[in-house]
Amino acid sequence: MASGGMISSILIHRMVYDYPRIVPVFVRGGLGTEEVEFSALQRFLEADPGHGVVDPVVLDQPLKSLFGDSEWERVLSRQHPMRGRKLLMLTAAAFYCVEHGMDAVAFGLLRSDRSDESSPEVLKTLESCFRMALGWPLQILTPYAGASDMQVMRRGRDLPLHHTFSCTVPVDGLHCGECENCLRRHRNFEKSGIEDRTIYGPGSVG
Ligand SMILES: [Zn+2]
Repeated sequence: MASGGMISSILIHRMVYDYPRIVPVFVRGGLGTEEVEFSALQRFLEADPGHGVVDPVVLDQPLKSLFGDSEWERVLSRQHPMRGRKLLMLTAAAFYCVEHGMDAVAFGLLRSDRSDESSPEVLKTLESCFRMALGWPLQILTPYAGASDMQVMRRGRDLPLHHTFSCTVPVDGLHCGECENCLRRHRNFEKSGIEDRTIYGPGSVG
């Protein structure tokens, strides 16, 4: 599963070592940043396609109707939690895998991302559900579940990381350079000793 973010982009290249064919799956829910994130994913893959990595696939899973009009505005402004989003995304990706005869779905879960909906027990149960309900032994892979973002970033240091996208409030398609994600991104580049080639908004961290 590929979001255009740094961790899932590095994950694509990690999977190349284990599988001959990788399909980056971008699940589109209707959030405001997705267009920029998908463009980032495309630029990243164009800059370093990776052996066996094909063009990304977009799965539309509109979220708005799940929340209703009034709550949706709060979701977009991140004031309303999106419980269950990982489950929805995983399920969409799982159906795609089953339909296309693929063995596994991987997503960039980090140690700090662990929550009830992505606990090892839940993921194992989901695998069982897919096997029982769909008749397909799909594996759910989380190779970075014990790692921090910095550790993963260092593993991807030779990749075109500046093409990945982290910002929650992009400005003209660029990183704003001021939001929490941008500040963390820039700080992680500095701490990792990796040159930050990200283009940030004027007057910001970059
Ligand atoms: Zn930002």
